[in-house]
Amino acid sequence: MLDMELFKDPAIANRLSKQIKESVPHSLRLMEVCGTHTVAIFRSGIRSLLPEEITLLSGPGCPVCVTAIEDVDRAIKLAGQSDVILTTFGDMMRVPGSTSSLYEEKARGREIRIVYSPMDCLKIARENPEKKVIFFATGFETTSPSVAATTLESRTLGLKNFYIFSVHKLVPPAISALLSSEDVRLDGLILPGHVSTIIGIKPYEFIASQYSVPSVISGFEPIDILQAIYMLVLQIKNKEPKIGLQYKRVVCPDGNQKAAGLINTVFKPADAKWRGIGVIPQSGLKLRDEFSFMDAEKIFDADVPQSKEPSGCSCGEVLRGVKIPTDCPLFAKACTPENPIGACMVSTEGSCAAYYKYGVSFPL
Ligand code: SF4
Repeated sequence: MLDMELFKDPAIANRLSKQIKESVPHSLRLMEVCGTHTVAIFRSGIRSLLPEEITLLSGPGCPVCVTAIEDVDRAIKLAGQSDVILTTFGDMMRVPGSTSSLYEEKARGREIRIVYSPMDCLKIARENPEKKVIFFATGFETTSPSVAATTLESRTLGLKNFYIFSVHKLVPPAISALLSSEDVRLDGLILPGHVSTIIGIKPYEFIASQYSVPSVISGFEPIDILQAIYMLVLQIKNKEPKIGLQYKRVVCPDGNQKAAGLINTVFKPADAKWRGIGVIPQSGLKLRDEFSFMDAEKIFDADVPQSKEPSGCSCGEVLRGVKIPTDCPLFAKACTPENPIGACMVSTEGSCAAYYKYGVSFPL
């Protein structure tokens, strides 16, 4: 059995910190793509163990943060239709839409329920046969297999009142869009451990072959992240970009074929809009045609007028690593976790919320 305490061991952390400092060849901009890494880095004080040459930037890997404002507006519109119960994960409730949030709509009397698993929606649908239960499905490759399994289970059960509003996102196309942006400059990527558990290594191969950018799939403990950074530094120093795998104890190079198979059975890739970034080709998941009878976008009117990003919010630039949260003029002034203006301040995995919570100095 693995001794997980070793992954928090200060002596190992200090040794890795020293190795990173001795090996860093020049100033480096490294992006942790995943919001869970952003929080783990702050929580464990990893920044204080890195040389000043290394700048860590947060990426577009917080599912709440990247859900387009239009999609929040559409979820609100769906929740407002007669006999609808809208269900979603709790962290979507406070994400601002153009003029409201699901939380505010619930306070106004809309039937909106938080679920901890998509399967909970099937119970709600069975207990409320006179209602139409719509699941607002957000998240990356980590979440979509459970939504796919729920979709299949609903079909098996013959439920006639359960629907999916899928705004699921895919990580590799977002990385591709980032790396091809002219204003984004990155020397290396810390790739998300849990998404990689599902998709494996192959979908990332373009990062090295097309963009010559080093990358490492990392776990979430302090030693995981420091080791991943050290592996990145060595790739950069030796000019050998490849897809490194630090998180070997969890990620198989081929991923989880069963989970990936579930995704492919139920969903097909589609263009998707990312908050503050825009449309990224083939970066989303929509239900396949054989599941149209459960597709909320096809059954209900989910059209909304032009959605509006909050004025002055820099979430788009923050999610692309062009700005850090403290560059946003609203940070810690008009925008706080109690009164979030952009989605990056809502989620616990949002970089603005992490900067706020973990004591980055900012003027109040
Ligand atoms: S501080 Fe608030 S307004 Fe500024 S980028 Fe972050 S979430 Fe958006």
